[in-house]
This record gives sequence, C-alpha cells and structure tokens, in this order.
Amino acid sequence: MAQVRPIMHFPTGGDGLFKGEGADPIQEEHLRMGFAKKFQYADTHCGDPRAYDPKGDYLCRDCNMFVPNGECLLVFGAISGTKGSCRHWENKDAGDAELDFANKISKDMAGYGETPLDGFGCKRCQYRKDANTDSVGRDDICKQGNFHVLDTACCALNNTPKMKIDFPETAEQKAIQKKADSDPTLPEGVSTWGWAVR
Ligand code: SF4
Ligand code: SF4
Repeated sequence: MAQVRPIMHFPTGGDGLFKGEGADPIQEEHLRMGFAKKFQYADTHCGDPRAYDPKGDYLCRDCNMFVPNGECLLVFGAISGTKGSCRHWENKDAGDAELDFANKISKDMAGYGETPLDGFGCKRCQYRKDANTDSVGRDDICKQGNFHVLDTACCALNNTPKMKIDFPETAEQKAIQKKADSDPTLPEGVSTWGWAVR
C-alpha cells in the first residue's frame, strides 16, 4: 500500500492562531524548515543564511538588491530604504552580483510592505509570543507555525502593527483600496496578503 504523508494538527485559540507552547523539537524543526522553504524563514540554525539579518530589522537599505536612490533591482516602483522590505530580502555580499532585471516583479508578488516601526523581524510581529527557551536560544513562539523562533528571525508572513501592504497603481486598484480602507469590519493592521482577510 502506498504511504501517505501524515498531517500535523495543533490546538488553536479564539484568534484562529496556534495557542500552545510549540511541539517536540523534531516536529518543530520540520515545521520551521517548512516555513524556511515557503516563507523564507531564517535564523542562526535554520533557513538560508543570506536571508538572516542578525539585527532583526530586514530593511531594504541592508538588502543586496537595494539601489540607494530608492529603487530595487528586482521590485518595480519606488521603495523605501528605511521603512520597506519584502520576502526576497538578502544580506549584502560583494561576491554576489545581482541582475539588473529587464522586467521587475510587482510589490504584491514580492510581498513588499512598509512599517511605521524601525524594521520588521519576529520581535515586532503580531504573531510572536514569549515562550520557554529551546536548545539553541529561541525564546519566542510563532503562532502561525507553532515552533520556536529567534526574535531576530523573520519570514514573509511578518505582520508588524499598522504595516502598509497595499500600493495601488491603477485607478481601479485605487478605488478598491479606498473602499477597503473605509470598511469598519476589516481589522486594523492585518495584512491583506498572506493570511488574507479581504
Ligand atoms: S524590495 Fe525586497 S528585494 Fe528590493 S531592496 Fe527591498 S527587501 Fe530587497
Ligand atoms: S513570528 Fe511572524 S515573522 Fe516570525 S516566523 Fe512567525 S509569522 Fe514569521
């Protein structure tokens, strides 16, 4: 008989997020590696080392694709060196030549956002909560993934309070954004991408 992959289930709370203290270390590492692959999670022991910012800020100005005039080699349109970031953040390395893309990708495709805070990172994410410390010093739990994280880690699901994630360019997109902004039923500061609420 063909083997079928198991599915891991964990209890959730009233906010729909995982409410426990994580799983056993082997399960947690599997979950963490899944986030590294799907959402570019990275810390000192897991994920792509080029995607880890020891400062835990993950701002465009520290990314290998940032152009100091406020542009990006990969993402289309104006970006902010001091407020912006995206899922493709990569630390600077003079040995890593970048392509000047002929056609750039959209902000939406990159998961680009701008925060009113001093950066991104798990330490500023609304999905993080305090926890006991694991064997390598991670002392937070990610309520989206049910595993321990470092507060200097980050991933593409990061949700810092009042983060701007919609950058409409056409008249039609601007009209949709205006309607959504005036809808009192939509929770403030919750991403409209990733775990979409719209
Ligand atoms: S938009 Fe993304 S790829 Fe471009 S500089 Fe910012 S973090 Fe880097
Ligand atoms: S706490 Fe936030 S940024 Fe950190 S892994 Fe979880 S969702 Fe991603």
